Amino acid sequence: MSKSYVIGFPRIGEQRELKKVLEQYWSKNCSFKEVENVSKQLRLKHWKYQKDAGIEYISSNDFSYYDNVLDTCIMLNAIPKRFKNLENEELYFSMARGNKNSVAMEMTKWFNTNYHYIVPELSLEDEYKLNATKIINEFKEAKENGIKTKINLIGPITFLGLSKRVDRGDTYELHSKILPIYEELLKEISKLDEEIIVQIDEPIFVKDNEQKVLSLIKPTYDKLAKVSSKLKIVVATYFEHSIEATKILVNTPIFGLALDFLYGKKNLESLEAIAESNKKLIVGLVDGRNIWKNDIEKSINILEEISKKVEKENILVSSSCSLLHTPFTLRYETKMDEQIKTWLSYAEEKLDEIHLISKLFFHGKENLNEIENKDFEKNIQANENRKSSTLIHDETVKQRVQDFKKLSRDEKFEDRIKIQRELLKYEDLATTTIGSFPQTPEVRKSRRDFKKGEISYETYEKDMKTYIDYCIAFQEECGIEVLVHGEPERNDMVEYFGEQLKGYGFSQNGWVQSYGSRCVKPPFIFGDISRPKAMTVDWITYAQSKTDKIMKGMLTGPVTILNWSFVRDDKPRDEVSKQIAVALSDEIDDLQNAGIKIIQVDEAAFKEGYPLREENIKTYEDWAVRDFKIAVSSAKPETQIHTHMCYSEFNDIIKTIEAMDADVISIETARSGNELLKIFKEVGYKQEVGPGIYDIHSPRIPSVEELVTQIKLLLEVLPKEQLWINPDCGLKTRKWEEVKPSLKNMVEAVNQVREEL
Ligand code: GLN
Ligand code: ZN
Repeated sequence: MSKSYVIGFPRIGEQRELKKVLEQYWSKNCSFKEVENVSKQLRLKHWKYQKDAGIEYISSNDFSYYDNVLDTCIMLNAIPKRFKNLENEELYFSMARGNKNSVAMEMTKWFNTNYHYIVPELSLEDEYKLNATKIINEFKEAKENGIKTKINLIGPITFLGLSKRVDRGDTYELHSKILPIYEELLKEISKLDEEIIVQIDEPIFVKDNEQKVLSLIKPTYDKLAKVSSKLKIVVATYFEHSIEATKILVNTPIFGLALDFLYGKKNLESLEAIAESNKKLIVGLVDGRNIWKNDIEKSINILEEISKKVEKENILVSSSCSLLHTPFTLRYETKMDEQIKTWLSYAEEKLDEIHLISKLFFHGKENLNEIENKDFEKNIQANENRKSSTLIHDETVKQRVQDFKKLSRDEKFEDRIKIQRELLKYEDLATTTIGSFPQTPEVRKSRRDFKKGEISYETYEKDMKTYIDYCIAFQEECGIEVLVHGEPERNDMVEYFGEQLKGYGFSQNGWVQSYGSRCVKPPFIFGDISRPKAMTVDWITYAQSKTDKIMKGMLTGPVTILNWSFVRDDKPRDEVSKQIAVALSDEIDDLQNAGIKIIQVDEAAFKEGYPLREENIKTYEDWAVRDFKIAVSSAKPETQIHTHMCYSEFNDIIKTIEAMDADVISIETARSGNELLKIFKEVGYKQEVGPGIYDIHSPRIPSVEELVTQIKLLLEVLPKEQLWINPDCGLKTRKWEEVKPSLKNMVEAVNQVREEL
């Protein structure tokens, strides 16, 4: 065993066992007992992995059937009224997924990760009371299996910070009501053993918190740390620094702090305060959010730096955050390039790294055993080899990107739009869609069969073209003005481009939980990015050849490609993003040279890439805008550039959006009338805007009347010359039976409004 600590471990299972059994249970193919059995086996397996790797501090209560924030609602009895008549698993999964009578609770992204948590719905009327069953049982279960765990909890301040009030008002007003439940919980926990570590996660401390929130920290942790002398409280933060909170926490009787020294380098500034307080410092060094091998020599150097201030015996080595955000194990990656594989490390491999770093730091190289010695050698070698590998380093790409001087289009928007309007001749309130049409079982099957080598390229191409023809025929019949090809060849808007770009890798089993039972398998960028050949031109020119109307080319933007991939950690993100942008600018040039007149560059993940701290926002905005502009810089003035973003809250970032200088932006607004469009008017936004006029997340078909109303609402804010009319987002998850009448109604609504104007 080493002085090693893991913030938390993934739970979905290395073969997604939990996902599979949950989905069986939801479709009534197995009992809940079965879910419990699988879960129990998974917990045990995951504890054993950690123990076998020599990890000293292993967590319980990091498991969840769906989500830890939801678990915390259950622990507090914070249950929305509409679920009050239910209990046990029925209650739990109804809260998560809704049921016949009640809609599910809302879900949103956990900080800047792709994990989604259930948003607690709180109200003054709530009667909080303790339900500690899950927490107590998991601890006991581990103990029975010879593993004494630390207990993970989501802290009260973070819990409140992530909640919403259904009765209006501030969630923090409920602090005095929930804190006693936490105290009671700790009392219960203290009965379990002579000495127990309780890790309380407070990631909200890494945000720019108002004084109101900071002022809760001391009273909260004074209280919680005093509940029992048997308990040792560790407060954990991650994803950024939390220096304001640290300064307060060192003056409370907690046992230690777990801090992220990878994504929160500024935490180094709190070392003196921590040292003075003589608290334990759990140093997060092994990346819980990425898949690269740790550079162990570098980690040792950081630890040496830290130990100049904090006493060595107060230090523990840890993951930067829960390993929940990384895939399980490299053991199943049998098809990956052998060399690339030596650079990677998933959760299981990260355990060994944590152990090894700790061994090296506390006991020195001379005290490693034979296996550890070999692992260390391998680690040094892999990192050396990665630094110079020709798989990664492409001098031509580097040179070109460095010398790339075309940072924007030549003409101003005002001049471009005149030329475009003249040439493209679309009407005011022009209709279009966001790109994808329903991905039917046939389309999916053809793509899958082709991937597996079961059908020839010719058959696959024919299938896709048949589908494209179908999409075009429908759009023409419907009377839509700017057409799309429907994206049948893409299973995912990032993976599709990743597969065609050099420098991208794919895993077989690199699943990461996104929400509930849903997992994603992000591609990873390991090397310099370039485009060996055109990626979309054949499909789009084919589609254009089948219609006299304008066919819109469809690309994913650089920032979105970056944000939905695991990105190499040996190069700053903005440099990687610039390489992608340059590759995309070539694609745009090829498209326009092939006769494509409108090109949409989707930036669905532009907003979610925003940093957690104000102090980093400008830098992000600068390079994100720079790279969007680089991507479209090759567009001639007559080529119209569209972009699309899947959300509507632009108030804080409207100037940045405007600076991207797309000729047209389509956004999601249907659920909020014209409210969210107002900011465009307020700031005098120049470019054209396509506010979504109906919600594509629901199967509901909007009527002509309601669409007319919606369009009129938009016209109250922006003039008809500035508006496009389209749905909220792509239609790939919908069925044709829903899409056809909805779009027909959309076109009909536009025609009615035009007549009245
Ligand atoms: N063009 C993409 C589509 O229609 C955009 C998807 C998105 O914004 N998430 O599917
Ligand atoms: Zn969208």
